[in-house]
Amino acid sequence: MTATTSRHRPARPTVGIDMGGTTIRGGLVDPDGTVRRFVRRPVPLDAAGRRAAPADLARELAGATVSGAGAVGLAVSGVVEGGRLVRSANVGIAGVDLRADLVAATGLPVEVVNDAQAAALAEVRTGGAGTRGVVLVVTVGTGIGGALVVDGALVRGRGFAGEVGHTVVDRGGRPCGCGAAGCWEGLASGEALRREAERLLPGPRRTVDELVERAGAGDVAAFAAVTACAEAFAEGLDSLCAVLAPDRVVLGCGVLARGGLVADLYRSTALRRRWVRGAHVTTATWGDCGGLVGAGLVAHDAVRDAVPARG
Ligand SMILES: [Zn+2]
Repeated sequence: MTATTSRHRPARPTVGIDMGGTTIRGGLVDPDGTVRRFVRRPVPLDAAGRRAAPADLARELAGATVSGAGAVGLAVSGVVEGGRLVRSANVGIAGVDLRADLVAATGLPVEVVNDAQAAALAEVRTGGAGTRGVVLVVTVGTGIGGALVVDGALVRGRGFAGEVGHTVVDRGGRPCGCGAAGCWEGLASGEALRREAERLLPGPRRTVDELVERAGAGDVAAFAAVTACAEAFAEGLDSLCAVLAPDRVVLGCGVLARGGLVADLYRSTALRRRWVRGAHVTTATWGDCGGLVGAGLVAHDAVRDAVPARG
């Protein structure tokens, strides 16, 4: 299925924005998923800055196109209901009406959607996942997100279907931003890798990149730390595959989209698991951009549905 608006007039691009716990990305998105004027910047550290960031970026991008943008789509990590970010383990703000903020900033129609759901929609509509069967998309960024697409239709549930990162896999384990403890993402997310870097590395360069570089260079402790995260990832994914029996599993976003050692270890470790082996496992076509592309497509859908094409 391809999003189109009118037979006679090319659709205006939409503004697609994806805000996670660490990075906000934005761009102008065409109906076929093409992204122009891509912007990527760190998310502000303070809550007021975080809340303002999507509206500031949307205003900037909407003003950057001569024809004007048709709508705004925001993908955000957390539970989204009716344009509100109800709660989020990673973004650091909750109970805020982000749709109202964006409407006030741009005057455009606005859709707000869970980030992993947006990424899944991008993969199924314009990436390589295809629209047939059960597709499970798992994204590993600051946390772990997920989404389920069945025969091309996104399973939204009550706004958080696919929040697989909060499956409890370690009873009595590390407290999670969601309020529970021992969640899957606490053991296998980008944040889990960052904690390992802080634990193992001396000096100021205690980053995931440094950890991965050392692991690749033969540092035994660094390699063991990355391997442990990969094993935890594989265990969680195996349980999901046992429950859902997906035809395809798409791995993407954040640490997996970068490729290299982490992506290779996560993928190869998962593929040795019993239930995962039955699925066709691929890497996201859109890499880090799936969330913003999906957000842009959701916005195109909203415009198309609001103004039916004339004959
Ligand atoms: Zn959790």
